[in-house]
Amino acid sequence: MGSVSEYFGSLVFDDRVMKANLSAKVYQSLKKTIDEGAQLDIGVANAVASAMKDWAVANGATHYTHWFQPLTGITAEKHDSFISPSPDGGVIMEFSGKELIKGEPDASSFPSGGLRATFEARGYTAWDPTSYAFIKGKTLCIPTAFCSYGGEALDKKTPLLRSMEALNKQALRILKLFGNDTVKCVRTSVGPEQEYFLVDKEMYDQRPDLRFTGRTLFGAKPPKGQEMDDHYFGVIKPRVAAYMEELNDELWKLGILAKTEHNEVAPAQHELAPIYATTNIATDHNQLTMEIMQKVAAKHGLVCLLHEKPFAGVNGSGKHNNWSIATDSGVNLLSPGETPYENAQFLLFLCAVIKAVDDYQDLLRISVATAGNDHRLGANEAPPAVVSMFLGDELNAVLEAIENDTPYLGTEKTQMKLGVDVLPKFNRDTTDRNRTSPFAFTGNKFEFRMLGSSNSIACANIMLNSAVAESLKIYADRLEAADDFETALHEMIKKTIKDHRRIIFNGNGYDDAWIKEATEKRGLCNYRTTPDCMPHLLDKKNVDMLTSHGVFSEAELKSRCDIMLENYCKTVVIEANTMVDMAKTQIIPAVESYVAELAGTAAAKKALDPGIACDYETSLVKRLSALTDSMMMKAEALDDALMELHKADDVITESYIIRDTILTKMGELRLACDEAETLTAKKYWPFPTYGDLLFGVR
Ligand code: ADP
Ligand code: MG
Repeated sequence: MGSVSEYFGSLVFDDRVMKANLSAKVYQSLKKTIDEGAQLDIGVANAVASAMKDWAVANGATHYTHWFQPLTGITAEKHDSFISPSPDGGVIMEFSGKELIKGEPDASSFPSGGLRATFEARGYTAWDPTSYAFIKGKTLCIPTAFCSYGGEALDKKTPLLRSMEALNKQALRILKLFGNDTVKCVRTSVGPEQEYFLVDKEMYDQRPDLRFTGRTLFGAKPPKGQEMDDHYFGVIKPRVAAYMEELNDELWKLGILAKTEHNEVAPAQHELAPIYATTNIATDHNQLTMEIMQKVAAKHGLVCLLHEKPFAGVNGSGKHNNWSIATDSGVNLLSPGETPYENAQFLLFLCAVIKAVDDYQDLLRISVATAGNDHRLGANEAPPAVVSMFLGDELNAVLEAIENDTPYLGTEKTQMKLGVDVLPKFNRDTTDRNRTSPFAFTGNKFEFRMLGSSNSIACANIMLNSAVAESLKIYADRLEAADDFETALHEMIKKTIKDHRRIIFNGNGYDDAWIKEATEKRGLCNYRTTPDCMPHLLDKKNVDMLTSHGVFSEAELKSRCDIMLENYCKTVVIEANTMVDMAKTQIIPAVESYVAELAGTAAAKKALDPGIACDYETSLVKRLSALTDSMMMKAEALDDALMELHKADDVITESYIIRDTILTKMGELRLACDEAETLTAKKYWPFPTYGDLLFGVR
């Protein structure tokens, strides 16, 4: 393979390829569609399709697929070959504009939450020309949105694109008010930092819990965990280094700017961060990244675990969503400016985010809610389920000065007047970063840290974009009607700071005292679990906001709420069934074998000399026998509780039973089994232990 600059993006039908392979007229027309959302005419689509096919075939592709993101959380594809019969009995490779623009996968088994009656099982996929097509294996993949014939979104890309458009529309209104008439569009960008675990494939294969659920459901704490902090940024082991190297190559070929990689806090945990990209592209890339991480791992005899909590007792995995808003000419609207005017504009966008996060904290929590992520957010781990924002000391002092009309003490003790005074230069020193905050300002972007490692970043960004669009809309309405722009602006910023101060918290987010203060004094939401938060998706204020910006219809929201709760229930039920099975067919029989050995040893000793006490064997046999009884009883109790589940009338009730009963009983069964593990000879234990898994890759 040549140098990185030679093969970077070699499997992507990107701007360079388009320019080289399309006529100037077709290229210009396509660019207009990509940049400004102009309608694409069929003649252009045909020309693009033909060039795309020729390029793909030249690069080894034989098939194409519309690549989409149904609500299952992973990506879907249905491959069609380019081959068409030709009159002479041979074949030709064909691909039309129609096939590029629209596809009709047989979509009846993707979740729709009742949006699509089974007699109308068809859905269609529609090309997203703003995200480049790429080749995976022998297949040309075309990023698409997925909708029902009624036009309802059945995927994550459609509402994401709508939310980007909503924010674009409102941000343009604001920029106009600031006298910016040249800006064509405003887009959000995201750089998602992805955490993951690597474990040995042979060990993984021996654990039904990992294979069926992605996480360990049993496992006593190993003698060594993460307490030494010696893994974080530690030396990368050779096998892991080889994996990362190949992963980077594969991602680079797909035009994904994988940039940094390092070991994380927990043993066997790592992180990969790309350079940020426009949100819908970043979302496609993150889905692809997760897929390729797993594929490459298999080649190295490894398994990449993307579950939020693969191991109890060590840190789980998240995904940090670094988010900013920029104009088409590359001006970052979350970057403090050089002039008073730019500063006022920056403060307004900052306030829009503060207001959005406070008003729609529930939607942000909902956007990251899954059974897996509940193990991080609701538990004693970072970040907490309470949404709050960190701004840093300097910015905080500025806001305080504005709120109270007091001098800002950071500079020359002058009273800050927006649009007149220059903001102080903010120190972008990383030391004032708050790693415990769920939503932190980091100099020129916000870092939303509540996402789970397996989450699609679409959901979080849909809510974030929409909520900020709503703040901007309210601001634009007010400012457009104001007689004196500057006074109105100043008052509005002041009011936002006053009204939303409660969401700003600069202390330690892990602290129990904070959770108490947040919920009792500040009235912030603390939805610890998915069943706690998900029904609030349908709260009137949320439905009103999301429908008014055209991001979701009410029917789409209802269906999503159902699907998310169904996913939650199914996930936990599979885990519970796996536990019952492992306890009954693996753990209990293993303990019994060891008990038999112990009893046999005691009997043999007694036969030699009846005077030998055999206290060790006797007490261990007693303890383990009590544990096998207890394990059996708890497995039965869990099984019985699972049998009762179908009696729940609706999915919300079912999710409550799972939260309150099933998960509790799973915890009880685990406790007995984990104790048995600590007492059973290792050679009898039926699968690799935590120590094996966490320290097994060298
Ligand atoms: P960290 O110290 O958290 O690693 P970095 O500056 O390295 O912070 O950035 C982390 C992620 O944030 C990367 O994916 C990076 O590309 C992304 N990022 C940087 N600037 C922006 C921006 N303006 N908008 C969105 N994402 C950004
Ligand atoms: Mg980060």
